[in-house]
Amino acid sequence: MTDTVQIEIHPIEKSRIDAVDFDNLVFGRSFADHMLVVDYKDGAWQTPQIVPYGPISFSPAMMSLHYGQAIFEGMKAYKSETGDILVFRPHDNWARLNKSAVRMCMPEVPEEVFMEGLSALLKLDAAWIPAKPGCSMYIRPFMFSTDEYVGVTPSKTYKFMIFNCPVGAYYSKPLRVKVETQYIRAAHGGVGFSKNAGNYGGSLYPTQLAIQEGYDQIIWTDAASHQFVEEAGTMNLMFVINDTLVTAPTGDTILDGITRKSVLQIARDWGMPVEERQLSVKELVEGIEAGTVQEAFGAGTAAVIAPIATVGFEGKDYQLPERATDAFSKRVYEEINDIRLGKKTDERGWVFKV
Ligand SMILES: *Cc1c(COP(=O)(O)O)cnc(C)c1O
Repeated sequence: MTDTVQIEIHPIEKSRIDAVDFDNLVFGRSFADHMLVVDYKDGAWQTPQIVPYGPISFSPAMMSLHYGQAIFEGMKAYKSETGDILVFRPHDNWARLNKSAVRMCMPEVPEEVFMEGLSALLKLDAAWIPAKPGCSMYIRPFMFSTDEYVGVTPSKTYKFMIFNCPVGAYYSKPLRVKVETQYIRAAHGGVGFSKNAGNYGGSLYPTQLAIQEGYDQIIWTDAASHQFVEEAGTMNLMFVINDTLVTAPTGDTILDGITRKSVLQIARDWGMPVEERQLSVKELVEGIEAGTVQEAFGAGTAAVIAPIATVGFEGKDYQLPERATDAFSKRVYEEINDIRLGKKTDERGWVFKV
């Protein structure tokens, strides 16, 4: 980072924090007092503003509502035992936001605008960062087109914003997931690798069908053959097979998850064999039946690690074994958690101190 960014701060008159029940936080339903708003116009990012969190007004012809130039990120901040504000790998989120931006013909956000805007916002709303175990501040950076124009073309104006949600633990019980063999999330040449809003809109209907069948989530398979496991919801999928960590390689159909790459790095540092390779549904369900698939879990910021109990495929449920107390997914969760909270030395340079 080179320049220091001027940020205009318009603080709230009275905090809403007393109205929030921090013992019963529902994910994504509580919003901290302030938000960051940065406008892009005339080919340049304008002075970042921090203003009270609340509704914004826009034209019904605002382009993002019609043509989908809308991208987002998700990351978490923690309060350490010594009261420091720690953010897990925010530069990676910044870099990924800009990858999504390029694919969607949107302007890239300068690193200093992202990092200094985020830091100022977290400092101002520091009281909102829960310090209890399992709790954190979920950070939602996002960008959308704002031109008032009817026509499919890149917008000339955008808003980049960040708001923050204090959150408790995400998932509680191990998941039942269904292998999806009809609908698709992403195809080669498409936008699956980007965190753009439309990807999630398209996932709702097939997910709803799976929920009606008694599952929690879908396992997406590749668009061309439906034979290979890709990812699930907003999580990458990982498996321990014969003591080897197996996950699909990233490419243009898979989101390059920061939790995924953190888990892979830790496994490698622990000397565990790691394979980034295609895994067929056949190999997966046969492995579960044979007992060679020891663990299956989702990896993503919201849940960190979400263990999978059951895989449904073609009307049959395949049951994973109970997680052992020394299961890899448990140990890696503890490791990531300790690093995020500053309880363990951050040898890999993952933690950003505000
Ligand atoms: C956000 C997301 C992930 C997980 O990424 P993290 O950086 O670990 O949070 C995985 N898959 C999809 C589709 C996602 O949107």
